[in-house]
Amino acid sequence: MRAAAVRSTARAMTTTRFAPSPTGLLHVGNIRTALHNWMLARQSGGRFILRIDDTDAERSREEYVDAIRADLAWLGLDWDQEERQSARRPRYDAAFAALLEAGRIYPCYESAQELEIKRKIALGRGLPPIYDRAALKLSDAERAAKEAEGIAPHWRFLLDHDEPITWIDGIRGPQKFEPAQLSDPVIRRADESWLYMMPSAVDDIDMGVTQVLRGEDHVTNTAVQIQIFTALFAAGFAATESAAKSPPAFAHEALLVGAEGKLSKRLGSLGCDAFRDRGIEPAAIIALLSRLGTSQPVEPIADRDVLIQSFDLATFGRAPARFDDEDLDRLNAGIVHQLSFEAVQHRLPEGMDAAGWHAIRPNLAHVGEVSEWWQVVTGPVMQPEFSDEDKAFLAEAARLLTWSDNPWGALTAALKDATGRKGKPLFLPLRQALTGMEHGPDMGELLPLIGEDEARARLAQAAG
Ligand code: GLU
Repeated sequence: MRAAAVRSTARAMTTTRFAPSPTGLLHVGNIRTALHNWMLARQSGGRFILRIDDTDAERSREEYVDAIRADLAWLGLDWDQEERQSARRPRYDAAFAALLEAGRIYPCYESAQELEIKRKIALGRGLPPIYDRAALKLSDAERAAKEAEGIAPHWRFLLDHDEPITWIDGIRGPQKFEPAQLSDPVIRRADESWLYMMPSAVDDIDMGVTQVLRGEDHVTNTAVQIQIFTALFAAGFAATESAAKSPPAFAHEALLVGAEGKLSKRLGSLGCDAFRDRGIEPAAIIALLSRLGTSQPVEPIADRDVLIQSFDLATFGRAPARFDDEDLDRLNAGIVHQLSFEAVQHRLPEGMDAAGWHAIRPNLAHVGEVSEWWQVVTGPVMQPEFSDEDKAFLAEAARLLTWSDNPWGALTAALKDATGRKGKPLFLPLRQALTGMEHGPDMGELLPLIGEDEARARLAQAAG
């Protein structure tokens, strides 16, 4: 094989990243983005990077960094590499220098108030509030005068207006932006701190990110960042072996809305703590969020590999995805019914064994409810007051109880013969006497757990 052919078939390893700002707890929208990036990486044996976007020193908190890590760990979303923007300032300085040198960054001196006035004037004239590039027109002398007044500049990236910005979005299809319709973005503040736009592109290059999958609120950022990538490559910035040599592929997913179809405040604060408190299993969240908003059915699939292998951006719709708590509860029950004894053992009441778990599992909406049912097995149970007729029936039951592999089958068959009862009159008083409940796990499985002596005692007590 010729060398050129080898090169053209060698593709960079899929590398994705989840880049939360540690200014709060993860909410369901962030969790979904993290999950999808994790799936893309795991699907192809690639790398998943956790990147902490902590350039905003004032709003970033270490406790949120810890909480983000803990939430991802609880969800089982493992990462191969962790990065922090606050530790990468020298790289941003280098990128800044390269772009400055290339004439793609310029200093600006307007105050926030001045910018606000410009914005209002533009809007008042019915024009889009696009920055007018006044600072670009300043002469050296004018700039020197601003600095002599003690005004430190903030810095904007100079968008190239020559050609439209285009990309094929993995979810939205072909995208096109006219750069002249966008403001040159501020990339660095007057206090030299960084805004999100450039560091993110620098990181994606340095970390060899091949796919950026994020919410559609970032679509315009992508247009700008594509120009930043291109400018950085043109300035020879991607120096290292592992660095990306071209912009990543982009995909933007529709946002999540509440069941009522609107962007909801509640979703913005709904996170892992609330799910845990409600007894929701990580697997239920994963099953829901991996398929929500796609054309694939949302099902209680407990096997992550199945979800990973079927994950496909082409199945994502462009309409907002509806997040419904009822779906989550339904999936949770479906997942709980599949949990193995080994998986839940440490969460079960003392003394409960695999047989107990398997008998009770189909009745649970949440694992936490298991103690209530285990209490039914271990007793004491609260029996209702029975009619005289039922008391006589239960006395007969106590007499006829024998023990075997299938004591429930034997008891109900013997009682049917002896009393002629069938259906509800046969089963209900027995269930009530043995468990104190009208509904519950299969008695065939429950009775062996209750045990012969205890069962006889309960029947005798009910008989009065
Ligand atoms: N820190 C940014 C955010 O949370 C990251 C966006 C991105 O994925 O590039 O919105």
